[in-house]
Amino acid sequence: MQHPTHFPHNQKRQDFLQETGSEYAYGLGDTAFRQQCDTEYPSLASTTYLDYAASAPAPLSTLRTFSEKVATTLYSNPHSRSSSSVATSLEIERCRGRVLEDLFGLEDARSRSQWDVIFTAGATASMKLVGEAFPWQNRSKYCYLKQSHTSLVGVRGCALARGALVAAMDVDEMLEHPQDDSSPPLFAYPAQCNSTGQRLGLGYGRLLKERHPNGLVLLDAAAYLSTAVLDLQSLPIALAPDFIACSFYKIVGYPTGLGCLVVKRSSASFLQRNGYFGGGTIDAISVSSPFWSHPRRSLIPGPIHERFEDGTLPYLNIIVLLHALDTHRRLYKSQRHVSNHVSALLRFAARELSLIRHANGRPVVRQHHAFDGAKYLEEPGPTIGLSLLDPSSEFIGHVHLEQLATVNGFQIRTGGLCNTGVLTSAFGISDQNIMDEYARGRSCWDDEEFTGADKGVSRPLGMARISFGASSTIDDVFQWVSFIRRYFVVSDTVVTLSKPILAEPTVPAAANLQTLVLYPIKSCAGQVLPKHCSWEVVPSGLLYDREWMLVDLSSGKTLSQKQYPRMALVRPSVDLNRHVLVVSALEMSDLILPLDMPEEAEEAVNVCSDVVSVTSSGTSVDEWFSTFLRIPCALRRLSGGASRHAHFDRATSSVPILLSNESPFLLISQSSVDQVNRWINQGCGDATNDPVHASCFRANFLLGTSTSPLPLPPFFEDTVDLLRIGTETFQVLARCRRCLMVCVNQTTGCRTKEPFSCLARNRKSSRGKIEFGVHLMWREDLSKGGLKPTVRSGDSVRFATLEVN
Ligand SMILES: *Cc1c(COP(=O)(O)O)cnc(C)c1O
Repeated sequence: MQHPTHFPHNQKRQDFLQETGSEYAYGLGDTAFRQQCDTEYPSLASTTYLDYAASAPAPLSTLRTFSEKVATTLYSNPHSRSSSSVATSLEIERCRGRVLEDLFGLEDARSRSQWDVIFTAGATASMKLVGEAFPWQNRSKYCYLKQSHTSLVGVRGCALARGALVAAMDVDEMLEHPQDDSSPPLFAYPAQCNSTGQRLGLGYGRLLKERHPNGLVLLDAAAYLSTAVLDLQSLPIALAPDFIACSFYKIVGYPTGLGCLVVKRSSASFLQRNGYFGGGTIDAISVSSPFWSHPRRSLIPGPIHERFEDGTLPYLNIIVLLHALDTHRRLYKSQRHVSNHVSALLRFAARELSLIRHANGRPVVRQHHAFDGAKYLEEPGPTIGLSLLDPSSEFIGHVHLEQLATVNGFQIRTGGLCNTGVLTSAFGISDQNIMDEYARGRSCWDDEEFTGADKGVSRPLGMARISFGASSTIDDVFQWVSFIRRYFVVSDTVVTLSKPILAEPTVPAAANLQTLVLYPIKSCAGQVLPKHCSWEVVPSGLLYDREWMLVDLSSGKTLSQKQYPRMALVRPSVDLNRHVLVVSALEMSDLILPLDMPEEAEEAVNVCSDVVSVTSSGTSVDEWFSTFLRIPCALRRLSGGASRHAHFDRATSSVPILLSNESPFLLISQSSVDQVNRWINQGCGDATNDPVHASCFRANFLLGTSTSPLPLPPFFEDTVDLLRIGTETFQVLARCRRCLMVCVNQTTGCRTKEPFSCLARNRKSSRGKIEFGVHLMWREDLSKGGLKPTVRSGDSVRFATLEVN
């Protein structure tokens, strides 16, 4: 809900408001609606929230009225018989009714009595309940739509474990599935696709029921219900689904950890307890042998929730839900109003995105669709699954889009979106591809953007999703559309890498090494070596560079500034005279560690999918870092002689590295940094105009131009093959790809917006990779440094191409 100070879209806004009439903004009018959003959602003040399909933000009114209510009314465990307990039970029962009324359109008590609400921890827990309680047998069958959420697909695990059959189907296949009278099949589908917004609603289930009168239907309504009523009154009860799963935070934001399974009472007998029972779900048990027990109300049709709600219900959460539904009604009138509001936004957003074109006329945005060819689709829900395309219609990586969206204040979702079926059909990925990628070490959680090339084709491993909800505004759409236009449209005004900023110099330029920086601890501050201080060069980098790292003690993962920007304030320095590593940080006494390899036992850790052997520096050292960084962590040092290997097309063999991410040395130039600052100053990103310091790029070598006869042009480093720093020769391996880590100010440890946004507009390679600086390896064979080769700041630097040498 970032409100831009100035809008270039005034005409469009007027047209939109006119076109949508009272559909948009609940009849409150544009201004009053925006004011309501500002008041109710202060947490959205400086961000553009486009992830309603993941969760809705919680309105202030719900939190206020609820906290006042619990502070003044005594609620207690509903299993007792005290007055407070009885009152609590009544509120819980009232809530079941409100859920059926507000979300499922069951307005009279008689129609509600055909249904029951089992409170669960959420939609996933509801689906798991069906999976565990369904009477699977040898011949029963679980059929699910391929483009289902992972949580619905997962029911197959229960079916397979109990010897049932499983089939994954497309929309038509499921309808045409041959009938089998022996044991009822369970059909499962989502009412709305969580990745792309297409809606099958109740209509598809109705067709299934007509076609398979003995079949049961499990409906995943988690996405659908967030902005629409699932109107159970609109169809004969016999044609309604039997089990419906939902989560409430997707609708009203708070409470979390609460959902329900809505069960058609006439189908309740298909849910049977298997094994476990707990307090609350049992009528009587024998203490010991013969281990007799009687589950609660086995008489059907009784209130089936009593047989499935083990233990104490989260009664306060259920009471919050009542307040949340009240607030929702007060703010938005009804779910039907919400539905109209978001549909208007969706239509507008989909149209605006489809109009964005590159200068060559090709589209920038591809909107993905699920259930292709289905004849039964309703108007789609307010979710758009999308990928961006470059001017040659090649996909741009989703991680790149996410990072740029993040620094520009958007909250979106990217990746596989818990829906492998949509991902694979959108990009033509096969199940075999997925298994192959997994064998290569990739999973849905990592940052890989493309599959390994398969027959020369590399396919995206993720997409982006934007979604709207009850409190979305037209401004949110404008913000997103402007963002895509600003950063992804390739028009003549955008400078790309293929067009050098300045004409390439004809005279080989010379420069000097302005700054030489060592990073003893991965992701911590750099040690700027004093002028004319010689430092030894080894094949894996500068001596002691990235020999240490910090490991998160709870997850075992290597700590990075990306997650913990405060690491920039940890300042290690190697003191060769005293032969120690000194680590300092604000308000901490210096930590002094010997440089000699400790004798401690070694252990194996994972660094970027390499297993390396490391040694510990002891508990007191770990405590020092844990105290300063405020996370339990430990300092680990790469064991003597251990190293990892990096591969580059331009190097004939692998290059040794220690704990650095990619290569032994990283080089940038001051003239390139100056160019970035000119861009920032011209307002190429937006927001802040603060210049950035070279240190944010975390290079080992910073080239200056002070002693050069010719000023070094920006990005000259991109054009050279070899360079000699003093006596040592280095070969350029590749350009360095940049991530959000450049947005940590290395002096303050604070996150910044630049230079990432600015680089994204000016330094993007074809696949959407942002490049700045170059990776180097040391060419010992072309150097003349003798036994202990060194470099030092102030050294002169000469450039060459490979042919010259
Ligand atoms: C969100 C979602 C789920 C999972 O819901 P949880 O609240 O995480 O259990 C399942 N299916 C769909 C369609 C969803 O949108």
